[in-house]
Amino acid sequence: MLRLVYIILLTLFASGLCEEQFCSADSADFCKNNESDNQKLYTKATNEGYQKYLTMIQDAEQNHKECNNIKNSCFSDVIRRDLSPFKKKGISEEMIVAAKTRGTFYQIIGGKLYREKDCMFPARCAGIEHFLLKVIGNLSDMDLIINTRDYPQSSEYFGNAMPIFSFSKTSQYYDIMYPAWAFWEGGPAISLYPRGLDRWDRHRKLLNKSSSDIPWEKKENKGFFRGSRTSSERDNLVLLSRNKPHLVDAQYTKNQAWKSDEDTLHAAPASEVSLESHCTYKYLFNFRGVAASFRHKHLFLCHSVVFHVGDEWTEFYYYAMKPWIHYIPVSKNADQKELEDLIEFARNNDDLAKKIAYRGRDFIWNNLRMLDITKFWKQLLKSYGKLLTYKPVLKKSLVQIEKKQ
Ligand code: UDP
Repeated sequence: MLRLVYIILLTLFASGLCEEQFCSADSADFCKNNESDNQKLYTKATNEGYQKYLTMIQDAEQNHKECNNIKNSCFSDVIRRDLSPFKKKGISEEMIVAAKTRGTFYQIIGGKLYREKDCMFPARCAGIEHFLLKVIGNLSDMDLIINTRDYPQSSEYFGNAMPIFSFSKTSQYYDIMYPAWAFWEGGPAISLYPRGLDRWDRHRKLLNKSSSDIPWEKKENKGFFRGSRTSSERDNLVLLSRNKPHLVDAQYTKNQAWKSDEDTLHAAPASEVSLESHCTYKYLFNFRGVAASFRHKHLFLCHSVVFHVGDEWTEFYYYAMKPWIHYIPVSKNADQKELEDLIEFARNNDDLAKKIAYRGRDFIWNNLRMLDITKFWKQLLKSYGKLLTYKPVLKKSLVQIEKKQ
């Protein structure tokens, strides 16, 4: 008995000593972090800081009505908005000719699809053609210029609106947004996905399975990001991760342009992490890359909260998703302190974070099915076709594109 008391006392002493040692000047950061985990919630300043976020959530919820794409109520606005610059005068053949070099030229004539012979990115063209061939039966004759580069082409700073279809843009561009090729084929290839990110319908199922394997309560209370340095807007999170690894794990991976550690912010490149493995973490960061990043829609399916950084670069479906309802918005200029505050807010308001995570997931799961992508293409091209002011005639140099067997 005496020996047991002795052992307990010894253990208590040792753990006290250990805490003493942890809180030495050398470990000031660790102690501060522990303090922030346990006590921050109770300081006046912190509560006031949180109030700002709580008010934004309340305001967003008050004004929000969830859309339902089965009733076509999610994406019609974006089609209307993107086509509005062409509404008054329509789209003339001259406008098509003037824009021709900025994308791949397609024609739909008599329910058949034709394309100029060469395509800059064949897999991307194939990813687009899959959908065009699906909806073609219902469409009038039309000419189309489809940009397969990442970057949009019709800037409002350079002349009039050009009728060019692009997968992503900011509000400074007139481009008409279409669902990216990567929903079907031609997505980014990384070492984990050497043939490109898998088809969206298949990936949806995989992510759904991963998210049910790891319920919210079992996820790590941490921010997470893995990706290459396609935009410096990602730097502050990576730096925060180096300073406060208990809060966030954000590291740069190599991409094809990588030459030295300089391209991964002076650290060795990290290994890539599959999108399914992202589901281990509660707070998943999305950033723009060259344009919008393809990871965006995948992250939601983890049932984790998406911290969406910046609001400039969009894909067609972003407009139907609302800050504080479906995701936590983060300023593109957020410094490390701001990023830390937001992560701490989510850690200390777990029910709210979970609510946002689940709403975001349900939005993507219910409204961004492969069927919705096809439906969007159909509505977009039907509306676009009505704007042509001329009757297109088949160009001899084009090749017919047929369904792959
Ligand atoms: N990606 C991934 N795991 C990684 C790194 C990248 O799944 O560890 C995926 C990511 O989701 C994105 C694509 O690879 O869809 C390209 O990512 P990157 O950060 O290189 O470029 P981005 O397109 O985001 O600018």
